[in-house]
Amino acid sequence: MPTPRPTTTRRTVLLVNDFHGTAHAIRPTPIVGDREGRCLISRAAVLRARRTLCGNAGCTCGGEFGERGGTPQRYNVRVINETYNRALIVRVEEASDPS
Ligand SMILES: [Zn+2]
Repeated sequence: MPTPRPTTTRRTVLLVNDFHGTAHAIRPTPIVGDREGRCLISRAAVLRARRTLCGNAGCTCGGEFGERGGTPQRYNVRVINETYNRALIVRVEEASDPS
């Protein structure tokens, strides 16, 4: 299994929740000058995604963004860390490496 390549340009990542039948696109912001291609997702954007994808208090259907299952996606968002103001530092990876 090859190491997933991090992407450095701004990508639109479609998140789905196949339990509620919802979908939501997020656009992580690349961290300028970061050699590892890490991106930021604001706390507000995380909450917006959760609200759109699930939105039910106490429901544990989804992951960090309320996403769940779905057909194979083009990109995966891997959470690496959280900032002091609860923005997420993530890496956007190609879901499958064609090489
Ligand atoms: Zn739910």
